[in-house]
Amino acid sequence: MGEKKKKKVKSIRVDVDKCNGCRACEAVCSAFHAKPRYSSVNPARSRIRVIHDPLRDMYVPVYAGEYTKAECTGRDRYRIDGKEYDECGFCRASCPSREDFKEPDSGLPLKCDMCESDPPLEKPMCVQWCVNEALVYEEREEEVEEEAGEKAEELELGLESLKDRFGMGKVLDALARMEKKGK
Ligand code: SF4
Ligand code: SF4
Repeated sequence: MGEKKKKKVKSIRVDVDKCNGCRACEAVCSAFHAKPRYSSVNPARSRIRVIHDPLRDMYVPVYAGEYTKAECTGRDRYRIDGKEYDECGFCRASCPSREDFKEPDSGLPLKCDMCESDPPLEKPMCVQWCVNEALVYEEREEEVEEEAGEKAEELELGLESLKDRFGMGKVLDALARMEKKGK
């Protein structure tokens, strides 16, 4: 077991009843993560997706979660107030079975990073832009195990998804080209 240390846990509470489907959260998330920052707005690149139920005029904001290499063998099916939702409709995973939470050009997985930036934001962008207060930012401190290797794991996941999509040979070729260009 590793050392215990204090960690700031960030969370966003979603109040579905207050969401009116304006999709400002999707737009600003994509703009904040554009390279260079704010150079484009494309909700397909957003790390939050607002799922719409036209029958009940209900909108459910869903945050992008982890990349999964293979489809899971189970399926989520939600029935809320008698309305059946699409299979996996509220799942947060970036998974091979669907296009959600993938960068449209490269296919790389998208994951909500709570708008990590330097200097840090007071509140994530989607929360700042949600005028209906459907998204509420909260922070708390928790004692957790030391996270040695967490960044390395993130890097490995990114590389693994590239390898799955393009094959190891192409990934290595691209890295070699980048090194040559001195990127
Ligand atoms: S900005 Fe707020 S109200 Fe608008 S779609 Fe997003 S969560 Fe809903
Ligand atoms: S917290 Fe930031 S990264 Fe996450 S969905 Fe909101 S705007 Fe996007």
